[in-house]
Amino acid sequence: MEPSCFRKKPSAQARISECRPASASRIIGTSYTGLNTAWQFKRDNPNARVVVLEAAVVGFGASGRNAGFSTRMFGLEPEMVLLRWGKQKMIEAHRYLEKAVAHTRSLIEENGLDCDYRHNGLVRMSYSEQQANRLKKSYQLFQELGLDGDMRWREKSQVQQDFHSERFNSGIYESGTAYLNPYKQVHALKRLPESAGVTIYETTPVTNIERTASAIGLTTPQGKVTADKLVVATNAYSRQVPDTRALKTRQFPLWTYQIVTEPLSDRQWQNIGWKDRQSFGDNRQMLPYFRPTVDGRILMGGGDAIVYRTPPMDEVPSPMSWQHCEAHLKWIYPQLKDVRIAYRWGGPVSVNVDMVPEISFVGDERIIYSGGCFGHGVALTHLNGRTIADLLNGEKTELTDFWIMNRKSIPMAGDTFFFLGGRVARQALKTRDWWEERNLKGM
Ligand SMILES: Cc1cc2nc3c(=O)[nH]c(=O)nc-3n(C[C@H](O)[C@H](O)[C@H](O)COP(=O)(O)OP(=O)(O)OC[C@H]3O[C@@H](n4cnc5c(N)ncnc54)[C@H](O)[C@@H]3O)c2cc1C
Repeated sequence: MEPSCFRKKPSAQARISECRPASASRIIGTSYTGLNTAWQFKRDNPNARVVVLEAAVVGFGASGRNAGFSTRMFGLEPEMVLLRWGKQKMIEAHRYLEKAVAHTRSLIEENGLDCDYRHNGLVRMSYSEQQANRLKKSYQLFQELGLDGDMRWREKSQVQQDFHSERFNSGIYESGTAYLNPYKQVHALKRLPESAGVTIYETTPVTNIERTASAIGLTTPQGKVTADKLVVATNAYSRQVPDTRALKTRQFPLWTYQIVTEPLSDRQWQNIGWKDRQSFGDNRQMLPYFRPTVDGRILMGGGDAIVYRTPPMDEVPSPMSWQHCEAHLKWIYPQLKDVRIAYRWGGPVSVNVDMVPEISFVGDERIIYSGGCFGHGVALTHLNGRTIADLLNGEKTELTDFWIMNRKSIPMAGDTFFFLGGRVARQALKTRDWWEERNLKGM
């Protein structure tokens, strides 16, 4: 049973009075990670008291505003993962992500979550010959490692025929990727922990964390609570989490921006082909991605990413990034030159030095942190919820054996260094894109 101080219906004004339950878990962040963990742990432990504290509102973070690709992508580029982590870890990461996509799908289907889920596949595109050669090498690497089960190589003529754009070169078609509406998903997902008896407090930022031998104390503006276990599911927001100095150097937010067009007419869709309505992304370094929405629009994002100087979590509009997205979409599809952009927004992804996610204990095994999901956290964080529940249960499972658990990520060397390093890396990646596309028309 819930302690009396949590029985009240949560609201912005809800007051959390001091209480010391014998065994309670707190989760910071009502996001895919937070909600999935809360639900899985509560199902395993129906008598446990599980409370989720959210600084803003459900889905405020990346979970409510991402592009919705439920993908097996991991790290920046397959070749980088191979170089940094080696073949075996690359294969294990791919298998974990395969499970993650399957898990997300069955979670949605079995629980009837209304989130416009479409398992339509993904195409990795190239534009120039250099990019096509690089993509071919990635494909050969997937083949060599036996990870190409659902992948097919498509020549330039086939891609152009399917997508009615002369900009495209060859591509990899893969059926194991889906997309969903992230905002609908996070709100549908919220029902699961709530109906299992988890209490969610919105507009309740954790402003202090105090660890003693017997409990973890959390301060919020509405009151104090204690817990025996804590999950810090704050991903790109983790630098804001107080008193977990160990987290300050773990990751940094990188801002990325998206646009959505007005609905296309049937004629406009016919003009651009794309009849299987897959998502696609190109293999530029700056990772632009595109997908249809169920109401006939095109969502496009990426193509640039910005590191802000402190405070890095301030919402900063980026007209330049939105303009870049629109110009890029219309460069691919001049047929859409008169289509209007209906929505523009952005959000932070969590980036660490070695560009792969981590789930770690902080200090001791009572506090678990999840972050560094980069731009590939949709499916990953859904499965991570199950994995973190296993860790909270103190169980060693196939999931907790995955090597991102409690790995030692390379610490960041301070804000200024990261800010400057980020700017230099961004420029280097953009220069590489420019170099590979220098002979293309209209670039
Ligand atoms: C624009 C954009 C597009 C993306 N596209 C894709 C995509 O297509 N596919 C993909 O796989 N991934 C994508 N991602 C990444 C993906 O969305 C994230 O990896 C994932 O949603 C992270 O989820 P999370 O649950 O770990 O954290 P978040 O969803 O970021 O949630 C963290 C939560 O913690 C809360 N919080 C922070 N501090 C406190 C505090 N002190 N007290 C209480 N609460 C606090 C925040 O308010 C927030 O709600 C994208 C991200 C962005 C920004």
